[in-house]
Amino acid sequence: RAPVREFTGADPRDVLHEVFGYEEFRGDQAAIVAQVIAGGDAVVLMPTGGGKSVTYQVPALVRPGTGLVISPLIALMHDQVDALIANGVRAAYLNSTQAPAERSRVERAFLAGELDLLYVAPERLSAASTTALLQRGKLSVIAIDEAHCVSQWGHDFRPDYLNLGDLDERFPGVPRMALTATATRETHRELTERLRLPKAEHFVASFDRPNIQYRIEAKVDPRRQLAAFIRSQPAGTAGIVYALSRKSVEATAELLRSQGIDALPYHAGLPSEVRSANQSRFLRDDGVVMVATIAFGMGIDKPDVRFVAHIDLPKSVEGYYQETGRAGRDGEPALAWMVYGLGDVVQQRRMIDQSPGDRSYKMRLGQHLDAMLGLCETVSCRRQNLLDYFGQPSDPCGNCDTCLEPPDTFDGLVPAQKLLSTIVRLQRERGQAYGAGQLIDILRGASTERVRQLGHDSLATFGIGADLSDQDWRSVIRQLLARGILVARGDYGTLALAEPAGAVLQGATPVPLRRDVIGRAGGAPRVR
Ligand code: ADP
Ligand code: ZN
Repeated sequence: RAPVREFTGADPRDVLHEVFGYEEFRGDQAAIVAQVIAGGDAVVLMPTGGGKSVTYQVPALVRPGTGLVISPLIALMHDQVDALIANGVRAAYLNSTQAPAERSRVERAFLAGELDLLYVAPERLSAASTTALLQRGKLSVIAIDEAHCVSQWGHDFRPDYLNLGDLDERFPGVPRMALTATATRETHRELTERLRLPKAEHFVASFDRPNIQYRIEAKVDPRRQLAAFIRSQPAGTAGIVYALSRKSVEATAELLRSQGIDALPYHAGLPSEVRSANQSRFLRDDGVVMVATIAFGMGIDKPDVRFVAHIDLPKSVEGYYQETGRAGRDGEPALAWMVYGLGDVVQQRRMIDQSPGDRSYKMRLGQHLDAMLGLCETVSCRRQNLLDYFGQPSDPCGNCDTCLEPPDTFDGLVPAQKLLSTIVRLQRERGQAYGAGQLIDILRGASTERVRQLGHDSLATFGIGADLSDQDWRSVIRQLLARGILVARGDYGTLALAEPAGAVLQGATPVPLRRDVIGRAGGAPRVR
């Protein structure tokens, strides 16, 4: 263990050098550190990898007392504290995984003023005994990490964060910081309000990650597309693949392994030994592909992750941004690759319909999904769309699929009308509603057993869409759903007209659609 030097009152740059070994502060770091050392509050919005940690660690060392770090990532506290101790920082954590003897050792060290940094989970602070303990010692700064967890509408909501609103009353005079890598204007406003930081100075870094190339393509056979994508990368490339379900994680990892790719599964249902073994192999060895649910990745600091792939649609742009942000933290070129399809849209609408929660909650989830679909279906720059979502206007980037290979669009009015009128006829003439599969069979004039049984071959629209393939129709339906012209309902995703469909049927509104592209990541040729 490195010898401890007293840094109270030291020049922050000296601390940065001597403790952390960095030459200079980056971006807003120096200004944030100055604000907090002077005793002010700060709201820090900085993308993953931006360097948030030193903005509270340096003030914690320079100001007298112990810096309190509130973090939901219990699994990572141990590693974070070990890394600090290796740098000669007197750090410790308090959490539920600790033996009582260990806990009282940490408490004594804190009370004796022998700790520079103390990490606690938010649920600890909900206990009155923790507040009482902390009030008996001296705090230099309170850093609330992952502060977006206070947002009830966000994707990482933690109820215990709501109890952090009165820290100014519990610890008067201690500067407070809220830090997050996820902040839309809405979340920003919400966390400032709920964590009661009216006088804070706000530091909003650019959310652009210029070295990440964004690519989104139509989902046809996701695992095969994924395997082809990974094979298009140099051998031994490390990456993360996100899938929605545990089953899909396991099946995908297995398929990749069968193709000679060093893939490992990670999800909350695996025994903890397997999870941590897989995680350390991913961190330690070169070229491991981690196939995971979103349970994996928060706080993982592996700088050379070269790609993040999604084979299922994330629930929100924030989630997508955070997950893709784990690629290329070393600043070298990296890829954010995703496939998404009609099934994703239908499935997520269904999940929203069935989720517990009131109407306004479901509406918010619906808005999150709509923004995500907007990003997927955009015919202009993906990065521009993404940054715009975070309230940061920009120019087309030249480093995303739509910039590099501008998508073809086509006039979708006639196919849209054929589809919508088929839905209307089924409804009016038969009182029936169907999902995409049956509608496509009708439009394409497929003489399936089900079509014949239901007498759908006698509909006036039977066969009027034979000029488009099954895949084309799926694309049309997906885009009409994404634009709110169609809605999917119930367990089977039966399709119905939404309000804007009227104007389409009358031919009163243009319907430009994006022609899908399949399998062109890594410069592979276009399928059509
Ligand atoms: P965040 O918490 O915002 O995701 P971290 O605090 O983990 O980011 O920092 C991300 C990476 O940047 C780390 O590897 C860290 O060592 C490095 N880093 C942070 N500040 C500096 C700096 N001033 N100079 C050089 N490297 C830095
Ligand atoms: Zn672009």
